[in-house]
Amino acid sequence: MREIARTVLDAPRSGIRKIMEAAQQMQNVIHLEVGEPLFATPEHIVDAGCKALRDGYTKYTPNAGTDELRDLVAAKRTEEWGYEVRRENVIVGIGGVEVINCLFRTICDPGEEILLPDPAWPNYKTMAVIADAKAVPYHLLPENDFLPDFDELENLVNEKTKLLVINSPSNPLGVVFPEKVIQELRNFADRHGIYILSDEAYEDIYYDSKPVSPMKFGMNDNLIAAYTMSKSYAMTGWRVGYAVAPAKVIAEMTKLQEAYVSSVPGANQKAAVAALNGPEECTETMRTKYKENMQMVSEILDNAGIAYCRPGGAFYMWINIDGRDSTQFAMDFLKDCHVALSPGQTFGESGEGWIRISLASATEDLKAGVTRLAEYLNK
Ligand code: PLP
Repeated sequence: MREIARTVLDAPRSGIRKIMEAAQQMQNVIHLEVGEPLFATPEHIVDAGCKALRDGYTKYTPNAGTDELRDLVAAKRTEEWGYEVRRENVIVGIGGVEVINCLFRTICDPGEEILLPDPAWPNYKTMAVIADAKAVPYHLLPENDFLPDFDELENLVNEKTKLLVINSPSNPLGVVFPEKVIQELRNFADRHGIYILSDEAYEDIYYDSKPVSPMKFGMNDNLIAAYTMSKSYAMTGWRVGYAVAPAKVIAEMTKLQEAYVSSVPGANQKAAVAALNGPEECTETMRTKYKENMQMVSEILDNAGIAYCRPGGAFYMWINIDGRDSTQFAMDFLKDCHVALSPGQTFGESGEGWIRISLASATEDLKAGVTRLAEYLNK
């Protein structure tokens, strides 16, 4: 019997799933491991989706998304960035996951290299492996305020490097790159003639100043930004995301998207239109709640003398577990205290010695879970 594809066999499995599976075998577990908004999708968005189904939006849609949604995205970004973004610059996909996966395959030939943040959302690495590209980590470390080290980037880049991925606000760190760093990253990519993917999944979840997109300084030929409805509008299950990029990149991604998913369900795109056209208060309410949760968790950790990265955005807290093995720690803590969290090692080699919790959890769960964590760490 011949073997299944090496690229798929080699793809890593998420350590978060292992914790979730262990937690499923237990009773009364507090779940702080998954990055899922605690809010339901706002009513006006659900209504728009239901109405669309009744109105007959039950058929295939264009590969790159409906004109209505692409035009709306283009208008939103035109207003935000102050230069013209056109329908041809937008592709709608099945969440950020599919859009980013599609982009990796569009940009990279087998054996080419992708510079990925470490720690980072684990899916980037899986996507790089299945694209037969090489994932090359650049490190975001506490001694550098969790910001990129440009000397390291200069050492890593070579003739095989094709793409630099940046993610601000970051999952799992919550770090928001200052405008100056964003500009330097753009300069670095331009200087070396490589592409940049700016994954801005958490663009609307911030606690201090609004995150800056590299798109703000113009849409260069090498710049792609990825977005999702999932976090800003609590729409994880609707699976609608999009990318903004030069028309040439979008046209090639569209070819791939036809092969992968054909198109995004029309009713879900109608729901996305309602979200983008609708009141922004729902996002504001979520942001305020996550910020309250963040402040509450910070207070518990501060009082217990536990080190952590204070997030400027996204809804995660990156907590130091003092050199312990994060996978073992997460399993032991789950068994002993019935709280599920994500081992830092899942997010890359520099995640060892850290764990991630989600601030998008119910406040009572967070309070109980983090109090148990603080006691456990100080035992
Ligand atoms: N990018 C990052 C950093 C994420 O954490 C996620 C989801 O957790 C995504 C992209 C994609 O989300 P979705 O596929 O739900 O749009």
